[in-house]
Amino acid sequence: MRLKSKVAFISGGARGMGASEGRLFSKEGAKVVLGDLREDLGRKVASEIRASGGEAIFIKLDVTDEQSWRRAISETISQFGQLDILVNNAGITATGGILETSEETWISVMDVNAKGVFLGTKVAIPEMKQISGGSIINISSQMGLVGSDTGNPAYNASKGAVHIFTMSAALRHAKDGIRINSVHPGPINTPMLSSGFTDTERERAVLSRTPMGRRGEPDEVAYGVLFLASDEASFITGASLVIDGGYLAQ
Ligand code: NAD
Repeated sequence: MRLKSKVAFISGGARGMGASEGRLFSKEGAKVVLGDLREDLGRKVASEIRASGGEAIFIKLDVTDEQSWRRAISETISQFGQLDILVNNAGITATGGILETSEETWISVMDVNAKGVFLGTKVAIPEMKQISGGSIINISSQMGLVGSDTGNPAYNASKGAVHIFTMSAALRHAKDGIRINSVHPGPINTPMLSSGFTDTERERAVLSRTPMGRRGEPDEVAYGVLFLASDEASFITGASLVIDGGYLAQ
């Protein structure tokens, strides 16, 4: 098993890619904590994992709130004793260009996608130092590495922030044995994508620029996150793993 006895906290674990990572991590031997605002869905995923023989709990978490992070991580420690892995996966999206984006939208997208990653990292690092190591995986996007003429500017900027934040955090904590990497998915078949692509024209436009010509599946990202979480990636920090069907190769 690739994560035997490790404790993994996944933000935004109630659905989409976070839930896939929770299920996969559990199959690989991890004790899994799912943190999310969506209580019913999160509890359901945790109980499904337990029903198939894994160890998992749900903790209500608002990633924009430092106290909420502190409570969630301290509950994780009292339940499972330590924290080895954090996946900063929670995120929200928005539609419209610069002229259609309100200040409120900018602030809320930045709060969840960028501040949420900073707070999770800040609260996790002291716990990882206790065990002299850990792995943090920050979920950015293909849109965190290039500009986009069709995407939402707040979303793109927030994902770019996650990319650079990841590299700085990795440099700062390499000597603590804490590896920090980012993952950059292309269009993945999750509830977020379905809500972002209400306009099929837009989906066609994005997919026509994706060399593999299809949406990815949540597990296709989860396997990349699993690798970075595991000891197989022991010399990888500050890296960006692109999982995008070839979009960024053009
Ligand atoms: P999703 O909407 O299916 O799941 C995101 C989860 O985050 C939800 O369960 C939601 O409740 C949770 N969340 C939102 N705000 C939160 C908050 N303040 N506190 C705690 N939890 C919160 O989305 P997904 O597609 O699985 O996306 C997961 C991550 O991958 C996000 O960061 C997203 O930006 C990124 N991403 C998605 C795609 C895609 O095409 N789906 C592509 C690139 C990157």
